[in-house]
Amino acid sequence: RLYLDRIAQLKHLNAFLEVYEEEALTKARELDERIKNGQPVGALAGVVVGIKDVICYKGHHVGAASRILEGFTSLYSATAVERLLAADAIIIGNLNCDEFAMGSTNENSAYGPTLNALDNTRVPGGSSGGSAVAVQADLCLVSLGSDTGGSVRQPADFCGIIGLKPTYGRISRHGLLAYASSFDQIGIFGKEIADVAAVLQVIAGPDEFDSTAAQREVPDYQQGLLHNKSHRFAYLRDAQYHEGLDAEMKDGYIDLFESLVDAGHTVTGKGFDYLDYVVPAYYVLTTAEASSNLSRYDGVRFGHRTNEKNLDLIDFYKKNRSEGFGKEVKRRILLGTFVLSAGYYDAYYTKAQQVRRLVTDKLNEILEEFDAILMPTVPSTAFKLGEKTEDPIAMYLADIYTVLANLAGVPAISVPLGRHSNGMPYGVQIITKKFDEAALLQIAHQLM
Ligand code: GLN
Repeated sequence: RLYLDRIAQLKHLNAFLEVYEEEALTKARELDERIKNGQPVGALAGVVVGIKDVICYKGHHVGAASRILEGFTSLYSATAVERLLAADAIIIGNLNCDEFAMGSTNENSAYGPTLNALDNTRVPGGSSGGSAVAVQADLCLVSLGSDTGGSVRQPADFCGIIGLKPTYGRISRHGLLAYASSFDQIGIFGKEIADVAAVLQVIAGPDEFDSTAAQREVPDYQQGLLHNKSHRFAYLRDAQYHEGLDAEMKDGYIDLFESLVDAGHTVTGKGFDYLDYVVPAYYVLTTAEASSNLSRYDGVRFGHRTNEKNLDLIDFYKKNRSEGFGKEVKRRILLGTFVLSAGYYDAYYTKAQQVRRLVTDKLNEILEEFDAILMPTVPSTAFKLGEKTEDPIAMYLADIYTVLANLAGVPAISVPLGRHSNGMPYGVQIITKKFDEAALLQIAHQLM
């Protein structure tokens, strides 16, 4: 009821697309009953969770905040959702986002932007803006988002909360609407590392419905969380001294490094020559994958269908898609089909794959030598609403620090670090080796 009341009070934030009020209350009452009778309950009993509108929950609408899926109901639940329910979590509703998770501000939603609860003239970040604000404004305890190039870490940074993107394959993508399949990963928002760890514990692990979900055993994330250790940290000089990084934030990171050294850790600057290539490589590869993934939305089997009559099949597809998709999604489908087209494939797609390999190898090399890499999450604090909508390239370039972890498939987390003189929070990003979420969470806990 606390959360339901807050959701109603803070409706103007536009974080939730739908609230499952009756269902959530029923589940809560049932749990109360079970606890009263001394019956066992799951690991997340009573934990109130919101889910991004790209994650399927059987019997509920899922729409990727797009007109093209208007009226569509999930036929099955995502594995992550199944596991949350099996652990007795309460799913309270689904959350606004950029259409098909494409964006950095939540302004690409067909349902209007979500507002940053700290400053309503600013964006919450994106694409999982609703998921971030839901936790930021205490509309639920934790939430799920998806992170293809930063969509969990970046809004967490803009909202002053924690956002975790696990290793590619750590959490099953079954039931996650695909944007770029080789990058997508479900992520978790929270205000406490222990909460994020508890949710990861439940939803991670192998899944027969997703062959890219890793077979590895899931370690106990809560054990060891509170140990304080001495760490060997690296930072990327090219990231730390990048011209695009806000000057005040730059100082904030240097202060952090100094305080870490004072506390007995080592902090070493490493070169990383590829930084200026990561955004181009990311946008070539993800738009290519998206153009293929989104070809299924043709309006024939499901989704938006035009009212226009007497069209031939090709015009029928075109009309359905033209009416159903928003501007940014169309832009990316065009980009993606272009980079995949005969004659350009080698120049763009193959080249970007080669960049991905180089970036991954270099990053892994540094991660072999150090416990973790520390870097900014975003080069600036939250943008003003509308500030970047007319300049998609400027918007893409702001992803410079987040896409790295998705290109390489490594886990990364953003935790709150400081407050800018403009009043907005900013975070620090921590990156560890593949499947080392245990260390990632421990370090994040120690840094907070
Ligand atoms: N801002 C990035 C993009 O628009 C990241 C999106 C995401 O992680 N889903 O592609």
